[in-house]
Amino acid sequence: MSAIIELQNVTFEYPSGDNRQTKALKNLSLTVEEGEYIALIGPNGSGKSTLARHLNAILLPTGGIVTVDGFVTTQEEHRWEIRRRVGMVFQNPDNQIVATTVEEDVAFGLENLGIETSMMAQRVTEALEMVGLRSLRNHAPHLLSGGQKQRLAIAGIIAMRPRCLVLDEPTAMLDPRGRREVLETIKRMNHQEGITVVHITHFMEEALEADRVIVMDRGQIAHAGPPAEIFGGDIDLYALNLEVPAIPRLIQLLRSQGMDIPAGVLKVDELVNILC
Ligand code: ADP
Repeated sequence: MSAIIELQNVTFEYPSGDNRQTKALKNLSLTVEEGEYIALIGPNGSGKSTLARHLNAILLPTGGIVTVDGFVTTQEEHRWEIRRRVGMVFQNPDNQIVATTVEEDVAFGLENLGIETSMMAQRVTEALEMVGLRSLRNHAPHLLSGGQKQRLAIAGIIAMRPRCLVLDEPTAMLDPRGRREVLETIKRMNHQEGITVVHITHFMEEALEADRVIVMDRGQIAHAGPPAEIFGGDIDLYALNLEVPAIPRLIQLLRSQGMDIPAGVLKVDELVNILC
């Protein structure tokens, strides 16, 4: 595996009006491997969004270095290359719509990239196919459900063929069905297309899908490891005001009652397979 994103001793301070500097990231180092699926969790204000905004140079570190595929974010001449490689999806689906039809919305980003018109139609179709919206290509985006709007936002990014997708609480404003649709889409992008994913979420169940969970606390990484390690019971997530998802919690209880459940079991279907 090779690194796609590297943060070395990154510090970030938001300027504040009262001469007090707010350090949102403190000497944070992190390597994201190409093809990896990272879930970023942590209490409100722990620095998750600030970190995400460093990954495509929306924010620049006040200390330390962020590199994307070898390009340093603080160098202005690298910014174009960085933004082509790392696409961002935000929380509010309505803020990300720019056109009056679904396919025009996907095409918009490609126009900005200067992609030829003949190539564009193919890329738009492919991207809509990947997120399952091809049949709605002529629809008006504002009439879509929340989950469909977020999948449209993902299609707009995917059409640009990024290497990495950074999603900042993309399911926070969705109903359970929309959340499931978006989560399945994110997983497919990672598993089938090999796109690196950094997914910020406050739904702990969603973090179970990742290869690695990064737990943030007060601008630093408090814990990092595969979901089985983070949710296995050895880490006090409640101290950070985070929950342990239901199935890992149930497994901890069953183990404490003497039931022999193998390591690595995290999801409901896996548990059912063992119990039945
Ligand atoms: P999270 O995404 O984990 O909720 P944030 O990255 O949004 O955390 O915030 C980290 C810290 O930076 C918090 O203390 C927050 O109040 C502060 N912060 C975030 N955005 C701004 C801003 N625009 N100006 C000043 N401080 C900010």
